[in-house]
Amino acid sequence: MPAASDVSYQPVRLRECEADFVTQVEEHGGRDAHLCYQCGSCSGGCPVVFMMDHTPRKLLRMINLGMKDQVLASGTIWVCASCFTCTTRCPRGIDIAKVMTACRELAQKEGREIDNPRSPAFYQSFVEIVENYGRLFEPMLMAKIAMRTRDGPIDAARELVKDAPLGLEMARRGKLSLLPHRTKDLEQVRKIVRKVREMEVRK
Ligand code: SF4
Ligand code: SF4
Repeated sequence: MPAASDVSYQPVRLRECEADFVTQVEEHGGRDAHLCYQCGSCSGGCPVVFMMDHTPRKLLRMINLGMKDQVLASGTIWVCASCFTCTTRCPRGIDIAKVMTACRELAQKEGREIDNPRSPAFYQSFVEIVENYGRLFEPMLMAKIAMRTRDGPIDAARELVKDAPLGLEMARRGKLSLLPHRTKDLEQVRKIVRKVREMEVRK
């Protein structure tokens, strides 16, 4: 039996909904979200649906109902891996991956409380490292996420010490480098990051 606090089992309170929320999502790049007819093909193909608090189909319904607070607080929008499987399956031609991106952007823009603060921390840290090295450096990623999500440096260090045995074992097996490496064409990668930032500012 799901917990009573599960939003699925709570009535939708229309007075708490924002009727134009779907328009806000569409204006941020989630084009045609209003066309959803709830077939569920998106959820059926999503490889990370098991980690989501609301399936993509349900999230689209919530968006169309104007449940802005619940959508922008949902872990789903941060769990989405932007793989575009749902986008290719949608019979209504909705780019669901972009709907997820639009919701992430709105959540950040409005400084919303996020159910899983590790997800935005992951995105920010990932981009910073790629911008500096042109590729990912996992130990630094873990350190940055810990610094962003834990209660101060001591708590962050505790978390890193806890994960250290796994990291060392991966390094021993050649799956993880303990030193960062810069790609040769770093300037090209930086250009891409700058371009994406410019596009975000223009939205
Ligand atoms: S596949 Fe498209 S139409 Fe079907 S539920 Fe998902 S978003 Fe809606
Ligand atoms: S883009 Fe996101 S929501 Fe769509 S299938 Fe991939 S992970 Fe799931």
